Amino acid sequence: MVDSHCHIADEAFADDFDAVVARSRAAGITRVMCILSSDAENEFARVPVVQAAWPEVCYATAVHPHRAGAYAGRIADVQRVVRAAATRANAVALGEMGLEYHYDKAPRDVQHEVFAAQIALAVELGLPIAIHTREATEDTHAILREAGQGRVRGVMHCFTGTQAEATRALDLGFYLSIPGIVTFPKAGALRDVVRTLPEDRLLVETDAPYLAPVPFRGKRNEPAFLTQTVAAIAELRGVTAVAMGERLRLNFDAFLGARRVDTPAKAVV
Ligand SMILES: [Zn+2]
Ligand SMILES: [Zn+2]
Repeated sequence: MVDSHCHIADEAFADDFDAVVARSRAAGITRVMCILSSDAENEFARVPVVQAAWPEVCYATAVHPHRAGAYAGRIADVQRVVRAAATRANAVALGEMGLEYHYDKAPRDVQHEVFAAQIALAVELGLPIAIHTREATEDTHAILREAGQGRVRGVMHCFTGTQAEATRALDLGFYLSIPGIVTFPKAGALRDVVRTLPEDRLLVETDAPYLAPVPFRGKRNEPAFLTQTVAAIAELRGVTAVAMGERLRLNFDAFLGARRVDTPAKAVV
């Protein structure tokens, strides 16, 4: 099984990372994509530890919309910062990037510019992107259209949207990565959407340390807990968890495309 999006270089894992890796391996998690904030030195400082303990980890990096405000008036720096971070992490994707209108931690016009600059960089580098979009579907698609010019590939991370939103993302050729939220009692609408998704566009993620699935809800999330989410989705779709896990592996490889790596990509930090 592949955890397509988590933050295991977060300080939340500083004290017991070896145990986290051991539990993940025991649970059958073979690969994870670790998201790094391009301008968070504390996360990059932990990459050697992550890499030593778990060589199968691959990396994605970008400026998160929460942190976009730092680039107000100096948008040109975004590409420089992300490009350097992507080289340093030997990134297989750029992410997470996008628009966050729920918390609105950065002015929306700045979020737009930071997002657009990173999409353009992804197109230039030929890397897929991982999008964080919350309460911002229309603007996300408008910016994708303009900055991506139909050439950007990617995944909607933490997808909890409607059927119509799923269709829009699928029409762009995007993957949808389903989080542990799908196990929450009130997520009936999301479960209905997940039943209908094409099997070759589905990814699953923990977003650890956030969003732990039932029965770990409220606790620190970790990649091992992906099994709960995969089991829930497998049941919804009437397949075995083993078949689901194999499908996720194939889909993740397809998501990586040309950057597919049979031997782990090594960060150079
Ligand atoms: Zn996110
Ligand atoms: Zn995330």
